[in-house]
Amino acid sequence: MSFSSGRFTTVLTSRGCPHRCTFCSCTAFRGNLCKFRSPENLVGELEELAGEGYEEVGFVDDSFTLVRKRVERICELMRERRLDISWWCGTRVDAVSLELFREMKRAGCEAVFFGLESGSQRILDYYQKRITPQQSVRAVEAARKAGLNTTGTFIVGAPVETREEVLQTLRFAERLRMDAVGIGPLWVYPGTQLWNDLVSRNPELGERYWESGFVPVELGMCPYSEEWLLEAIGRTLRKFYLNPLYLSWQLFKTLRDPYRRRVLSERLSSLLS
Ligand code: SF4
Repeated sequence: MSFSSGRFTTVLTSRGCPHRCTFCSCTAFRGNLCKFRSPENLVGELEELAGEGYEEVGFVDDSFTLVRKRVERICELMRERRLDISWWCGTRVDAVSLELFREMKRAGCEAVFFGLESGSQRILDYYQKRITPQQSVRAVEAARKAGLNTTGTFIVGAPVETREEVLQTLRFAERLRMDAVGIGPLWVYPGTQLWNDLVSRNPELGERYWESGFVPVELGMCPYSEEWLLEAIGRTLRKFYLNPLYLSWQLFKTLRDPYRRRVLSERLSSLLS
């Protein structure tokens, strides 16, 4: 995904994640092995990209900020070499701080993506996410304070998730005051721990969905219908994105922020050309 309509590419700075979230396919592919590129190697590539006219890079690691010292060194090198390149990354809420976000912003970071998953501690524990809703609140606030654009993604519709817990997550998503939210029904991918758990209790699921995975709410595995869940998600997204306060806040931010103004003017001129 690119915000800018200028030259954009993605870069992988590390592979793997030491965490074991039960819905995530990352550990299914790599176990808990993590490999990191050195800051010098990475920034060398970024220099080449900037030299070729790239204006924006997305770091598409499983979780970019896993090793804080490495991120600090990357930021330091980017500043030293005066790299004129904007970037964004994904991160866990327990691997960041206001100081780190400020460093990242000074090095050209414009946006962070958080995998927040749920506003219910019980559901976060069900996914073995090992974070709390309070950590999510603090991380989003810190990113906002550092001047970064924020996006958070949520999952609803776990087989054990009650209607009230779904609504709790949807209210949480609305309350966090992020620039963008994404909410979707749980998808169980083959090879994940969640898949192994659910398929061990119902082997027919494995036989039928081994290629595609499955969405529990579609199969009637939740205490509410798919229709109810999708309607609740849609209502929340409409309320979030069409809220006049949100729209005026976004307009205000865009008028004040050179990066956002650049993205807007590039997008308008590409529409008009
Ligand atoms: S969801 Fe994120 S933190 Fe959890 S295992 Fe996957 S990459 Fe790691």
